[in-house]
Amino acid sequence: MIVSNLFWSRLVLKNASQVKRKINERLFSHSSFLKAANILDGKQLSRKMQNSVAEEVERLKRMDEKYHPSLAIVQVGKREDSNVYVRMKERAAKKIGIAYKHYAFPDSISQSTLLREVRKLNNDQSVHGILVQLPLPRHLNEKTVTESILAEKDVDGFGAVNIGMLAKNTSTPIHVPCTPMGVMELLHQYSIPIAGKNAVILGRSDIVGNPVSYLLRQENATVTVCHSHTENLPEQIAKADILVAALGKPEFVRGEWLKPGAVVIDVGINAIHHNGKRTLVGDVHYPSVSQVAGYITPVPGGVGPMTVAMLMCNTVKAAELLRNKSILRKVSINEIALKDPVPSDIEITKSQELKKITTVAKELGIHETEIETYGHYKAKVDMKLYERLKHRNDGHYIVVSGITPTPFGEGKSTVVAGLVQAIGHLGKLGIACVRQPSQGPTFGVKGGAAGGGYAQFVPMDDFNLHMTGDIHAVTAANNLLVAALETRMFHESTQSDAALIRRLLPLKDGRRVIPKGLLQRWNKICNNLGHDPSELENVSQELLEKFVRLNIDPETITSNRVLDVNDRFLREIELGLACTEKGRSRKTSFDISVASECMSILALSNDLKDMRHRLTNMVIANDKKGDPVTAGDLGVAGAMAVLLKDAIKPNLMQTLEGTPVLVHAGPFANISIGASSTIADKVGLKLAGTESFENADKAGYVVTEAGFASDMGMEKFFNIKCRSSGLKPSAVVLVATVKALKLHGGGPELKPGAPLPDEYLLENLDLVRRGCANMVQHIRNSQKFNVPVVIAINSFRTDTNKEYEIIRQEALDAGAVDAIPSYQFSKGGQGAIGLAEAVMKACSTPNEGGFKFLYDTKAPIEEKITTIAKEMYGAKGVEFSPLAERRMKDFKRQGYERLPICMAKTQYSLSHDPKLLNVPKDFVVPIRDMRLNAGAGFIYPLTAKIQTIPGLPTAPAYLNINLTDDGEILGLS
Ligand code: NAP
Repeated sequence: MIVSNLFWSRLVLKNASQVKRKINERLFSHSSFLKAANILDGKQLSRKMQNSVAEEVERLKRMDEKYHPSLAIVQVGKREDSNVYVRMKERAAKKIGIAYKHYAFPDSISQSTLLREVRKLNNDQSVHGILVQLPLPRHLNEKTVTESILAEKDVDGFGAVNIGMLAKNTSTPIHVPCTPMGVMELLHQYSIPIAGKNAVILGRSDIVGNPVSYLLRQENATVTVCHSHTENLPEQIAKADILVAALGKPEFVRGEWLKPGAVVIDVGINAIHHNGKRTLVGDVHYPSVSQVAGYITPVPGGVGPMTVAMLMCNTVKAAELLRNKSILRKVSINEIALKDPVPSDIEITKSQELKKITTVAKELGIHETEIETYGHYKAKVDMKLYERLKHRNDGHYIVVSGITPTPFGEGKSTVVAGLVQAIGHLGKLGIACVRQPSQGPTFGVKGGAAGGGYAQFVPMDDFNLHMTGDIHAVTAANNLLVAALETRMFHESTQSDAALIRRLLPLKDGRRVIPKGLLQRWNKICNNLGHDPSELENVSQELLEKFVRLNIDPETITSNRVLDVNDRFLREIELGLACTEKGRSRKTSFDISVASECMSILALSNDLKDMRHRLTNMVIANDKKGDPVTAGDLGVAGAMAVLLKDAIKPNLMQTLEGTPVLVHAGPFANISIGASSTIADKVGLKLAGTESFENADKAGYVVTEAGFASDMGMEKFFNIKCRSSGLKPSAVVLVATVKALKLHGGGPELKPGAPLPDEYLLENLDLVRRGCANMVQHIRNSQKFNVPVVIAINSFRTDTNKEYEIIRQEALDAGAVDAIPSYQFSKGGQGAIGLAEAVMKACSTPNEGGFKFLYDTKAPIEEKITTIAKEMYGAKGVEFSPLAERRMKDFKRQGYERLPICMAKTQYSLSHDPKLLNVPKDFVVPIRDMRLNAGAGFIYPLTAKIQTIPGLPTAPAYLNINLTDDGEILGLS
């Protein structure tokens, strides 16, 4: 029984048992036909149902302040009968607490415009039910229009999906058409037996006749459907225990055709003129039929009001469905077939059937309109998802960093993938937030960064290559900025003030026009000179000249062109050599795209507005007086934002086991923060978060990665990213390997490509024990932020349990919550269950005092750097070069002193010197130079010359990468 299966089935009449008793006395009784039939009072029943629905809506609103069911009625033209129905629906909606939106369009509306309007309503998450008032004018195709409504919002139940599912015995429609449902509800509420009875339906329309026939058949009536070609209609009618008349023929059915005691449901509503008065009659001749029938619905006051009540029920159901869909968040596990030995990464991904990304989104409670798919396995997540969920409490926030790594990397990405997979095995929602790898390492030395073995981000080729083009967009935005800078210097050097003023502040109809991109500069200059920015007529020559001349000092330019290639020959180039540049050549260099400030901005922006603001604030050079020149001064920030408008949306992908992954941004870990984006983390935390009416233990876990070890990635993650995002981490996972600990403990040097020395292949407890000092320092580093730490020992075949036991004991002694060997590479999520349990325990452990920053940004730059060097690296002190001293003074004068610090240092040592392994002591950190990323929002001191465009080795990864004739990628790792 479809109606009773619905969520609102509890909305039954309380006095149904009294009614039942009366009915049984009379129903189908031949002796009672001479008495007037009992009335099936649709008006009263509808009122009661509407009251119950109103109570239900009230209850849900109390429970969830975000719950606001809404109904959109689309009406074309102004037919009087339609107006009456629309008003009835409006009244009912308002009474119940359903927001009601009436979209009235003129008769002349075209089909395509109407369809566009319906599409808009489909995409509008605040609209739950959509109803197109029929009939439509002749030039509009009713079928096409009603079919265009999303099945979930089709509260009239007329669409093919709903009707189709209703017709199928084994399916349940989302919405049952209202009038048929009203008919059934009348029968149910008056306890009229249906099973085994003969039901005759007059009419076979999609709106009434056919769906009523399906519903009656589903309840085991023997159904006869009659229509205009049916012969001997009175004979058919005479067999009916239940007669449903839906013909649209006034008073068509006569009492003498009827079986005495039959139940008559008169759906028809026909206007007739009687004695000069317009009255409504049904399809049955009431005076005669009511004398024979056992029960009868009056017209008006029978099925009509029930239709309205059912529409309200369907709307509430639609709102409830959407709400449930958004809070469900049940991610299924994509099973993996484990093999031993573990095949290559690409073999594993190729053998795994992935979920469609639309399925991953649906499982997370993301609506169709909130993602933009790029093929089957990637999607951009629209920022409106965050807007919809921002009221939620955040899920748990876990950052994965590591101990001081070897040149091989210790497997942070693999641990991130394994950890979220394992969280899924434990019945909780885990979401990974990771960086998009640069193509530099993918084709260079290191290979991709998609995890490994049975803990991967997939499809790994998409992950490692262009994905959705974000890095290309960053390249384009950055290069537009530099082109704008270079060209502006050229034009300023070749043009007079008057020519510059004419072009940059053109006159239109005698009035000066400030180009939109330059408004901010206009306001700044006006404010500096005490001029009212809205006054465009009387502008002094001084102001005009100041406005159009940036006077950039070429020696101070900090922005380079970028490319996402390890192209070492771009480290120093000369440009502007063509004769068109009139001898204005300049030496400059390229950086790799991920080292650009635009990439850092993408990673640190909180939203689109914030990104636009940060782009505007990028300092690209100083002017000849030493004042900063920004992208805003060039007027290019708006255009850069346009280039990044899609890049700012995080990319949804999945792990090998179908766990959601948000891949977004990929700033260089040496000179930038080396973490994925704030926006992705924020979206993840809301997806994994809880509604006010949900238990806190429903919260899921967002696992985000911070590049390199605790002294680099984690420190920057906390002091820069968390400070700018306002997010508070619940736990830190530090990835360690036996190999790295042995190296720190004094093991022989590790060279990529060379065979591993025996010390790394055989048990060596002494090396491990000595190397644990490095891990302990990283644990202490995390503790300085007052965040619980779990050590993840990324397991390798050659490790031994005794080695693990030493690591565990040392970690526990240093105050870690736990240290767990983790086998995600060979076993997928199942292999990381122990780690996931430890991480969950860390997240739920009360953290007295809560998270704290290492330094106050108000402190002088020098002090902040010294704090990081001493507290994180264990340095004795810091030595600033004269250049660094000068920069600090400049930044202070320019008002940038309060920015946080992003140290540019080697990842291979806790110190600035990659040769100093384990826990170096008594060293002084040299600060050679200092750079400003005013847009990203940090100062980065350089402890050494950091290569910002790596080179390719003699035998780079690309030597093994190829494409088969079938378009299959080979050799990507
Ligand atoms: P419809 O689309 O015009 O369908 C009428 C049906 O009746 C058709 O299947 C037609 O057969 C059949 N029919 C017509 N003349 C017949 C005859 N002489 N003998 C046997 N069958 C005949 O109408 P509808 O939209 O289903 O509506 C039917 C009535 O219900 C109308 O009065 C309408 O106003 C009313 N209605 C009321 C509500 C409510 O809320 N109470 C809601 C919807 C409709 P063919 O298929 O062979 O043409």
